[in-house]
Amino acid sequence: MKIIAGVDIGNSTTEVALGAFIQGKIYFLSSALTRTTGIKGTVDNVAGIKIALEKAAVKAGRPLQDISLVRLNEAAPVIGDLAMETVTETIITESTMIGHNPSTPGGLGLGVGILRSIEDIDFLEAGESYILTVPKSVDFETAARRIESAFSRNIDIRGLVVQNNDAVLIANRISKKIPIVDEVRDLHLLPLGVKAAVEVAEPGRVIEVLSDPYGIAGVFNLSPQETKLVIPIARALIGNRSAVILRTPKGDVTERKIPAGKIQLQGRKNIISIDINEGAEKIMAALKEVEPLLDANGEPGTNVGGMTQRIRQVMAGLTGQKPEEIHIKDLLAVDVSIPQKVKGGIAGEFFMESGVALAAMVQTSRVPMDAVARKLAEETGLEVEIAGVEANMAILGALTTPGTDKPLAIVDLGSGSTDAAIITADNQITSVHCAGAGDMVNMLINCELGLNDMSLAEEIKIHPLAKVENLFQLRMQDGSIQFFDKPLDPKVFGKLVLLKDGEMVPLEINHSLEKVCHVRRKAKRKVFLENTIRSLQKISPTGNIRHIEYVVMVGGSALDLEVAGIIADGLNEFGIVVGKGNIRGQEGPRNAVATGLVLSYSG
Ligand code: ADP
Ligand code: MG
Repeated sequence: MKIIAGVDIGNSTTEVALGAFIQGKIYFLSSALTRTTGIKGTVDNVAGIKIALEKAAVKAGRPLQDISLVRLNEAAPVIGDLAMETVTETIITESTMIGHNPSTPGGLGLGVGILRSIEDIDFLEAGESYILTVPKSVDFETAARRIESAFSRNIDIRGLVVQNNDAVLIANRISKKIPIVDEVRDLHLLPLGVKAAVEVAEPGRVIEVLSDPYGIAGVFNLSPQETKLVIPIARALIGNRSAVILRTPKGDVTERKIPAGKIQLQGRKNIISIDINEGAEKIMAALKEVEPLLDANGEPGTNVGGMTQRIRQVMAGLTGQKPEEIHIKDLLAVDVSIPQKVKGGIAGEFFMESGVALAAMVQTSRVPMDAVARKLAEETGLEVEIAGVEANMAILGALTTPGTDKPLAIVDLGSGSTDAAIITADNQITSVHCAGAGDMVNMLINCELGLNDMSLAEEIKIHPLAKVENLFQLRMQDGSIQFFDKPLDPKVFGKLVLLKDGEMVPLEINHSLEKVCHVRRKAKRKVFLENTIRSLQKISPTGNIRHIEYVVMVGGSALDLEVAGIIADGLNEFGIVVGKGNIRGQEGPRNAVATGLVLSYSG
């Protein structure tokens, strides 16, 4: 008897299958997985491989030394990277604004006037309208008292901009109902003496004047030309309950625009240059026209130029090649909304700017797997060999899914790339790698929700979401409601929560349940459905995706709660039957490559 270990080193996961080879037959003993240590295809992987082998050996009830042979996958010599950029950089020239949504603004309505500080209230004169700033050194009682006394002198105060979270406290202590925006952190940056507008809507409603370019134009008497410049401000304020806009003196902020730029796609037969502004769909259509892609280049000095340059540099660093030797062999472009800090904003305001995210894939000169094999052998004393191309092994493994047969196509939904392979009835295998998979979904979620935390994005991607509506009631992501007999932990009250291992993990983010679910699903669809269709088209023997009948999904991202459904829906249109792999009838969609590596051992 010989014990064979199949080891699949992925970008994110290292998977192991252990099988006993007895008289020409394989009997599987165990499997295990761990996070890949280091960059796939480098000697840093050895640490992770040892952990996974050890785990699998323990599960099989055998010492590690019983393993007769370790078979490593021939890691596909492609690596990917991601970049994202807004398509234009918009800088506000004419106005500065505060549009953050303090949770409790006070008062109501729209107020317009000259901006002055409450410290100067005694010098104000009747006959002019004013908006007052209230710095945190002035407490709410003092502020209210001084405003009341000014009212009695007929001073026309139309609104307040307050540094502390005091809007409601002040509103309750003054006799006129005026709009009050509070929690304005950088109050000292506001230029006094300029014209300002403050708007607060009723609870549950949104502002109407300052979120509309013509509304702003009316307040500030803007020319049509000037009105164009305030469109981003208005856009940034849509959906807010309160806002402030000031008209700053001309020339305070200068406008600078970095053009989105063109990306040049160089195919074997033709070259197409396409403006990133055209959006992801047009870029992907252009890519299809030039395929196979030999290289892609962004126009220097533009956003897309910066993006492709960064990708090249990262890949060069990983492979030890020069940036100019790196050739982009595949691209996935996805439209995204990117929260942009408003230049000239004063409370960290942002607005959603449209942008494009790119995943790119390059071919490297053979990944140095020999070095990994050698080091593993040295450190464990085991015999190690490099066996089988990843895609072929994945097919072999996928075919252990009960109910499958040749011809069969698989899609491997991993972290860096979406790979597809097909085996015909006469055992011909064709495979492709497409840029973009689980990591890109994380990037899109991270960006569109403004998280700035990739591991949180991954958590949000993976776990079901719910909203704690009150202490006895949970609204699930599908809209259904779950009731509880005992009150829930007050720390989750009113929060969005992730349902993780039977626990509710509160999310400290300011988005609705619907928004998060929408962003998440859209990201998964744009990456995985698009890539599945693209990759199947490429491997179809006729070039027509409709000629593929059966598809098995494997890889970590096939575990996703939504991805399998999204892909099944999408492929249904082409009459393709698709299902999740269940490797060896027990592993689910994982372990296909590792299993294939064991199965392909022939003694
Ligand atoms: P690789 O072969 O590149 O190492 P894997 O096949 O291990 O990749 O898949 C890793 C990807 O699977 C990651 O992007 C990870 O976020 C995703 N993933 C893992 N578990 C789940 C899950 N339960 N739901 C959704 N995605 C998952
Ligand atoms: Mg993989």
